[in-house]
Amino acid sequence: MGTPPEWTALDPRHLWHPYAPAPDPLPAYPVVGSEGVHLILADGRKLVDGMASWWCAIHGYRHPDMVRTLQEQVDVLPHVMFGGLTHEPAARLAERLARLSPGDLNRVFFCDSGSVSVEVALKLAVQYWQARECPEKCCFLALRGGYHGDTFATMSISDPDNSLHDRFRSLLPRQYFTPQPPDADCTASELEDACARFEADLVAHQYALAGVVLEPVLQGAGGFHPYPPAFLTQVAALCARHEVLLIADEIATGFGRTGTLFACEQADVVPDILCLGKALTGGMLSLAATLTREEIAKVVSEAGPFLHGPTFMANPAACRVALASLDLLESRDWMAEVAAIEKILRRELLPLQSAKGVARVRVLGAFAVVETSEPVNASAWQALAIQRGVWLRPFQNFVYLMPPFIIQEAELMQLTGAIQTGISDLL
Ligand SMILES: *Cc1c(COP(=O)(O)O)cnc(C)c1O
Repeated sequence: MGTPPEWTALDPRHLWHPYAPAPDPLPAYPVVGSEGVHLILADGRKLVDGMASWWCAIHGYRHPDMVRTLQEQVDVLPHVMFGGLTHEPAARLAERLARLSPGDLNRVFFCDSGSVSVEVALKLAVQYWQARECPEKCCFLALRGGYHGDTFATMSISDPDNSLHDRFRSLLPRQYFTPQPPDADCTASELEDACARFEADLVAHQYALAGVVLEPVLQGAGGFHPYPPAFLTQVAALCARHEVLLIADEIATGFGRTGTLFACEQADVVPDILCLGKALTGGMLSLAATLTREEIAKVVSEAGPFLHGPTFMANPAACRVALASLDLLESRDWMAEVAAIEKILRRELLPLQSAKGVARVRVLGAFAVVETSEPVNASAWQALAIQRGVWLRPFQNFVYLMPPFIIQEAELMQLTGAIQTGISDLL
């Protein structure tokens, strides 16, 4: 369909794509626009987006309210340093997040990416124990199968055997790991065993641990693994009992993806520190936040300042867009949208469980993964998806979906139909 625009020749000459060699032998499709649940390619094709730009675009693309809000903010104050200055978008967003998040997480640190918000959480936990004169409590216990980012400290708490990070192991701070929690549909005795094992690992390292870090209820890119909320409930109780901070990384799960506004709610858990990112701005700009209880902020601050401060901290345009995204979320029955998506994902994808080459299928809220027995041929999958008018981005053994919440049944069926065809034709 037509010749590609001339700028596309610059990409292989100059660009690096995520987790890719340069130049990348696999194609990068030129995208020139976006509208609702669609991405628009340079050749005019419109694709239903099954990825929501990696968990982010919960309202689809270019929602008019968000576009207008961004334009208004850019006209007044697009960016300003946050040292010694403050502004209404940051103040209002902090108040809003404090109100919406579980429990009394009332103190908010803004930064510009999810990985950095996790770095901030780790530094907060370490400074907290230093302030309490327990400087030996400076390590973390993390779950196998987790993913917390691409910076050094976040790599050190992500799954240790995951091929994304293992070559840096000699450079990473040493952390502790505990097994991946059992499947969401495990038996009561499997759950009990898992909790006992967790407690044993926690107790073994208790005096070295500043915190436990985990993704609540659904592990993301480290394994796409939903686990029982009851596991998290027990983990939170054990952390409190053994004096270890609980850090919840809701960068992927936050803002409704798993069916509740925050996944912690499903376990009735209030973490000590909460990391947010991705869908925080509805996918329009990069922004992340680390929230904690006032009491923790107070302990840290009595010993001195908290030692972090990104250049683009609390970018006003991003904060305004985040407020607009939250307005939209509150104006719609997003819970019904997510429930409707979940129902269709279950109906269309769970039957693939018995298909040849499929290891397992998991659905939680507006998220689904078909895990294959062998690594997928990503470029063949992508070509098939595009031919069928959808955007998918499988990797390793995972063909997964996290569509915008505004997606309609017919569009969702296009996505699940492409996966069904891929499973029968490509495996
Ligand atoms: C994406 C993600 C991160 C990292 O966020 P970036 O914005 O890519 O730095 C951290 N934790 C989880 C659970 C994520 O899904």
